[in-house]
Amino acid sequence: MDKNQATEQLKELREKLEKYGYHYYVLDTPIVPDEEYDRLLQELLKIEELFPDLVTEDSPSVRIGGAILPHFTKVSHKIPMMSLGNSFNEQDLRDFDRRVRQFAGDTPVSYVCELKIDGLAVSLTYEAGKLVRGATRGDGTTGEDITSNLKTVPAVPLRLNNEVDLEVRGEAYMPKRSFESLNKAKKEAEEEPFANPRNAAAGSLRQLDPKIAAKRNLSLFVYSIGELKGRDIDSHYEGLSFLNETGFKVNKETKRCESIDEVIAYTEKWVEGRHELDYEIDGIVIKVDSLKLQKEMGFTAKSPRWATAFKFPAEEVITKLLDIELNV
Ligand code: NAD
Repeated sequence: MDKNQATEQLKELREKLEKYGYHYYVLDTPIVPDEEYDRLLQELLKIEELFPDLVTEDSPSVRIGGAILPHFTKVSHKIPMMSLGNSFNEQDLRDFDRRVRQFAGDTPVSYVCELKIDGLAVSLTYEAGKLVRGATRGDGTTGEDITSNLKTVPAVPLRLNNEVDLEVRGEAYMPKRSFESLNKAKKEAEEEPFANPRNAAAGSLRQLDPKIAAKRNLSLFVYSIGELKGRDIDSHYEGLSFLNETGFKVNKETKRCESIDEVIAYTEKWVEGRHELDYEIDGIVIKVDSLKLQKEMGFTAKSPRWATAFKFPAEEVITKLLDIELNV
């Protein structure tokens, strides 16, 4: 591919990704499956890697999320809410581990594996243990103020059992069963059903009437600390234990792993295991446990170098593979 062809192809890919991203992030109504979006994004990344001078500031490879809906008050995130780099197979995970260990030198590396809940990323701010603000991730630096809606979610503590100043991040989601009964009711009322629980959760929290959010049976898992004053924490796992003690819901399947083989075994377990859960997950998030090492590794324009999101193979692909195996 020469530079002219690359320019042409990048233009086409960016237009498509921007359009799909707008429907997904802003309108909460995707028009293509996630796998199609991910495939186009990987194609874009490959071309941008070959021709780095063609990377633009507003390319979908460096932009996080989407625009803010105009009817919400804007909230600035003191610490940006980033996206995650992706891994699609065992080799990608081993490459990630190699990069991490290059940074770590002789220090042993531990990882924390978490289920990647398919919902809406939110930030909750507490002052002296009292909830003062809840916001969406938005474009990573500016989010939407959805405090009134988040206050209706029972898993969001309004007051903590510790008078801390804290900003915490997590995923608001709709359990599968609630999603099914909501769509059933929508169909009966001849309304457009939601495409999936992620869009249902986002659509419920990104509207102005908190009574609607209150009826939607939403929940929340927290997965990281943005800012915490007056307490030293050395590892991500310790941070999660602190959040749990403080009154938040932390996912109980979270596991600390001492090697990449253990991480890989965890991802394999959940490819099938996810069907037993009462909420949707779209992958596994793997994070370096040591906060010192996280700091040393830092960030790319879009995501932390110390974490990766392992994406499950698309269900159709799994079905096809099973069909081949069973010879049907
Ligand atoms: P991401 O895949 O980069 O992951 C980051 C997000 O993961 C966080 O913001 C958070 O919301 C979530 N998350 C869940 N559990 C977590 C945990 N334990 N720790 C940390 N984060 C956790 O997300 P993204 O940047 O929003 O976008 C990429 C995703 O959106 C892809 O899956 C893509 O397929 C999908 N997408 C789909 C379309 C479409 O048209 N279908 C369009 C745009 C994006």
